[in-house]
Amino acid sequence: MSKAKDTFNNIKVLIIGSGIIGKSNAFKLSDYGFDITLVDHDEIHNSSHAALGILMGKMYQKRKGRSWILRQKSSELWPKWINILQSYNPNLRIEKPLYQLTNDQKKFNKLASFANNYPHDDLEIVEAESNILDPISEIFKGNKLQGIISRQDGRINPKVLLETLDIALKLKNIKTINNQIIKIKKNNKKWNLVLKTGEILSSEIVILCNSLDSLKLINPEIYDIKLKPVLGQAVEIFNEEKDINFLSLPKFLNINGKNLITINEKKIIIGSTDEYNFKPEDSYLNELFEFLEHKPNWLDKKNISKRWFGIRSRPEGEPSPLLKSLEKGLIICSGFYKNGILLAPACSHWISEEIKKHI
Ligand SMILES: Cc1cc2nc3c(=O)[nH]c(=O)nc-3n(C[C@H](O)[C@H](O)[C@H](O)COP(=O)(O)OP(=O)(O)OC[C@H]3O[C@@H](n4cnc5c(N)ncnc54)[C@H](O)[C@@H]3O)c2cc1C
Repeated sequence: MSKAKDTFNNIKVLIIGSGIIGKSNAFKLSDYGFDITLVDHDEIHNSSHAALGILMGKMYQKRKGRSWILRQKSSELWPKWINILQSYNPNLRIEKPLYQLTNDQKKFNKLASFANNYPHDDLEIVEAESNILDPISEIFKGNKLQGIISRQDGRINPKVLLETLDIALKLKNIKTINNQIIKIKKNNKKWNLVLKTGEILSSEIVILCNSLDSLKLINPEIYDIKLKPVLGQAVEIFNEEKDINFLSLPKFLNINGKNLITINEKKIIIGSTDEYNFKPEDSYLNELFEFLEHKPNWLDKKNISKRWFGIRSRPEGEPSPLLKSLEKGLIICSGFYKNGILLAPACSHWISEEIKKHI
């Protein structure tokens, strides 16, 4: 690595967008000795802060194609990243396992045959009669839930992850600028980047990690790239019913497509929706309360103690995410409509290889 460090020393890389993708890219590229600057004007309100952090690697049923390759790579890299990041924050970890349950018999049969087809992937089939499901049946009374337990999937707390990356980036001397890039322009071999406050930055390499707004910085006549907004809502439920204790549940569940995270005895998080819009709609919020055949009393909007949303971007006409070299010194790493937390290490790995073509 020290040879690579010498080669890339002093080459300026400017990363636009400081969500999980921008920060992960900065973290990975810092190993190579680049002179890295991260620019963001509003990172507190990005989709990474809204994420639930569920990692669905082995549970992914489509076992071929680009999406699977990225998941596989990330599943391999996450434990290694966690090991390194724990030296900056010992509280960061991947918590496992993840349950995927359904009350649709056909879907269960599909899950069971998927688990049987991959006997080495730590996927356990749990039928409705299994004792393991007793606490779940108690809390989701009247629903015949069954499915699989994935022992290698789980969750990373996104807030702890982002904080840890911040600590790491600071110690690695990555520069951060709290500002918005409003224009980028090629000037000989360098890129000039205009900040909203008028200053101009200059860099050999620019990486667009600013999700939907990447499009505002590139020429639509040259690049046929389309991204659409996908808003996701999540809620925290606070239940006061005495006979319900969420701690009796597994910590991480996906039930009929909705993710659930147990916080404590009385609190549980449920998310998320897929809304092709910039504003959260109440009609979509209902989905977070209507995903079971029999709705338990506690699963009621009156029990919402927190509600939030994030806006992700989804490529149109091509698969997510967008990982492309646009021209010399300009790379786009955007369009993480789902699974940005899961895919971050695999995409940073791709960037660290791709960037060499630009030098
Ligand atoms: C409710 C919800 C639940 C989710 N749950 C999960 C989950 O369980 N697991 C999972 O893997 N993923 C999950 N996701 C998806 C995940 O959050 C996203 O895929 C991921 O956060 C995308 O990260 P990003 O860095 O590409 O974008 P963002 O986090 O949105 O970051 C983009 C950044 O670019 C900045 N920016 C934009 N324009 C400019 C500019 N011109 N100049 C400077 N900065 C700029 C913005 O301020 C922003 O900070 C969830 C998302 C939501 C909304």
